Amino acid sequence: MAVPVGAHAQLVVVGAGPGGYAVACLAADAGLAVTLVDEGPILGGTCLRRGCIPSKALLHLARVIREAEEVATCGLAFGAPQVDLGRVRQWKDEVVRNLAGGIDQLTGGRGVATIEGKACFRGPRTIEVTESAGSVSSITFDHAVLATGSRPVRLPGCDVDDPRIIDSTQALELSDVPHRLMVVGGGYIGLELGSVYAALGSRVTVVEMSEGLLPGADRDLVRPLARRLASQCEAIHTKTRVVALEVREDGLRATLEGEGPEDPQDFDRVLIAIGRRPNSEGLGLEHTGVRIDERGYVVVDHTGQTDEPEILAVGDVCGEPMLAHKASDDARRVLEIIQGRDVQERARVIPAVVFTDPEIAWCGLTERQARETQRPVKVVRMPWAASGRAHTLGRTEGLTKLVIDPDSDCVLGAGIVGVGAGELIGAAVLAVQQELTAASLADVILAHPTLSETLSEVAEHSQGRAVHLLPRRR
Ligand code: FAD
Repeated sequence: MAVPVGAHAQLVVVGAGPGGYAVACLAADAGLAVTLVDEGPILGGTCLRRGCIPSKALLHLARVIREAEEVATCGLAFGAPQVDLGRVRQWKDEVVRNLAGGIDQLTGGRGVATIEGKACFRGPRTIEVTESAGSVSSITFDHAVLATGSRPVRLPGCDVDDPRIIDSTQALELSDVPHRLMVVGGGYIGLELGSVYAALGSRVTVVEMSEGLLPGADRDLVRPLARRLASQCEAIHTKTRVVALEVREDGLRATLEGEGPEDPQDFDRVLIAIGRRPNSEGLGLEHTGVRIDERGYVVVDHTGQTDEPEILAVGDVCGEPMLAHKASDDARRVLEIIQGRDVQERARVIPAVVFTDPEIAWCGLTERQARETQRPVKVVRMPWAASGRAHTLGRTEGLTKLVIDPDSDCVLGAGIVGVGAGELIGAAVLAVQQELTAASLADVILAHPTLSETLSEVAEHSQGRAVHLLPRRR
């Protein structure tokens, strides 16, 4: 939609990811005239176009492949999968297109003016938009929200440009299935995408420079995943760095340093998944009072306000955790500021989910954080070997645990590893957010046989009365 030069909007939102389109929709509901600008061809941002959604669509297929393989032990054999890569790509793109159509309806139906173009501030109340066709328009605003997201970090010291060195965006395009794939980075993006390629037939090597996969997650949650990945990947090298990548005609030669192999390793494709950095450059922020920190994040207070009072920021561009649901929650907060309300600082319980198989999910205080801050906590665990439902699924490697305040009995945090952990963590988020005691969680009746029972049963265990677990030793 073209906006005439000199147009005015009560609110301009730059970036139509889960942070930006949420602000735009909520503000339109509140009666504001909203203009939403995104340089991409469809709305939805990284999350929809090259993040959460396409990765989860492919992970769904990876899980089906693995389940079909593994169910052979129960007497049901399916044979090797026939992968029609073209159709897989088409299906994934359809999923994205359908959801993008939904966001179009949600914004259009609320009267949000959308512009496809690159936005750049020309002053603290003026933004210039260069549309893809080249035309330039200028919009003045009462408020603006920066929701420009983030992009993949490149491998330091590796300046070679070669189409076989890819990032998560290119990995999701699924142009082919390389024979030998090296994934640099054992964080959630590297492990999710590595799992997809391994299921499709790549020999995957993961290289992670810290001590273990998923640094930041509690080790007891990571262990079952690490064990399973070890059986599905060619190799997993922790405490190892890629120090050089040589582009050769027949592949990419990686030199590793650390506990990995000393000999150079050859791969057909290298996926760099070592983190993301905020999109805060090229936005003309120097024409405003908005401040950027040394890592490139837009500096905001607890309300999402920048140093330029009428410009706010949400989502990845203003800091960790870089997660879609955090961006959407930021949106609710900044709307209150735009509406002139007083926003109190509040603790937020933001769950993290790694959609590998098994999934890992946690929320609130982790055991590691408790240890690092020397906060005394009581930790109770329920291994899924004690869950009837886990046995019926043939997946008993899971674990549900609670981190509990020993004085108040409040549930401070929860962690789950196992199939469906991402769905199960929802109930734990509720418990932590509502500051439930473990005793009250233990009183909740959950259906049998379900994996969700492990939550109430681990809470019962903390109270010394779990039927399927022997009492805790004192
Ligand atoms: P984004 O979604 O990044 O959107 C920013 C938008 O701003 C983009 O559309 C961009 O085109 C636009 N933009 C940037 N600069 C300009 C400009 N100058 N002018 C106009 N437009 C501009 N998170 C989860 O919670 N769960 C997951 O399972 C998950 N999986 C992921 C998997 C992958 C492979 C990746 C890469 C990310 C994943 N994430 C996941 C992270 C999630 O995608 C981001 O946290 C989320 O998209 C951030 O939302 P945002 O609104 O801040 O920005």
